[in-house]
Amino acid sequence: MTRIFGPVPSRRLGRSLGIDVIPHKTCTFDCIYCECGKTTDKRCLREEFYPLRELLDELDNHLGKMSEKPDVITLSGAGEPTLYSRMGELIIESKKLIDIPVAVITNSSLMDKKDVQEELMPADILLPSLDSALKESFQLINRPHPGCDLKKIIDGLHRVLRKFQGKVYLEVLFLEGVNTDRENLLALRSVIKTLDFDTIQLNTAVRPGTEKTAHPLDINKLEEIRQFFGPKAEIIAAPKVQAEKTETDAEKKILSLIQRRPCTVEDINRSLGIPVPGIVKIIYSLFEKDRIVKEEHGRDTFYTAAARDKN
Ligand code: SF4
Repeated sequence: MTRIFGPVPSRRLGRSLGIDVIPHKTCTFDCIYCECGKTTDKRCLREEFYPLRELLDELDNHLGKMSEKPDVITLSGAGEPTLYSRMGELIIESKKLIDIPVAVITNSSLMDKKDVQEELMPADILLPSLDSALKESFQLINRPHPGCDLKKIIDGLHRVLRKFQGKVYLEVLFLEGVNTDRENLLALRSVIKTLDFDTIQLNTAVRPGTEKTAHPLDINKLEEIRQFFGPKAEIIAAPKVQAEKTETDAEKKILSLIQRRPCTVEDINRSLGIPVPGIVKIIYSLFEKDRIVKEEHGRDTFYTAAARDKN
């Protein structure tokens, strides 16, 4: 099964060709707003989950079939990509295959580790996130592995951003009543002021998260926060109404499957062979079109067709 997906249109990166470097929901965090379901393997230990050579061959093969160059290669996945222990080599070798920027989306949790700091340097774009600078809110929102220490994460961010030569888009995701009080905003702003980045991108939970307590922020409140953070801040939360109403082929395949029986992301992956991050993006899109509903059973999240699709 290929770990390469896309290119998919990304609000922040253009046409992004993704490399899924970690198994589904292997993460250092278990964020209450996570759109990929609950974390099933919470860890800080890095691993070569898939052989580096295999990933590079798949990438080479995928690029060979594309008629148009993507804008960027993005290391991502339904979890934390910096957990991939050969990330640095993957970035360097990918750039030998095609002359386009490589981006890494990360929750910043492993930036205190020297190997991660060094391996991130050959990337061209970093998209780190930091949702709170206060320990209590950090625990509440991100539900980190016990090995993650907020102070060390912030120190690590400083170290990486001081040395990093490429673009840095820092993301903060705000949840109503969780990290939007004055104490949180002041603490975040004072940390962010000391970091070297290009833009700070403000987001909210625009799609259903893991927990019902993850409420999105009203756009007016997000705008107030944007002003509070100053000229480098921009809002990236996409309004629901912007979704296209027609379905792509991949969306049709997923809809047809879940019309027959409720499925988890892993069920869809096993049945259709679509890489997990691609499925997650399609699921977002189907939510925005009101074509899909989510049901929780124990630790599993099932997706099923909305009522009108079942008729
Ligand atoms: S939102 Fe990102 S960092 Fe948080 S649990 Fe999901 S994959 Fe991990």
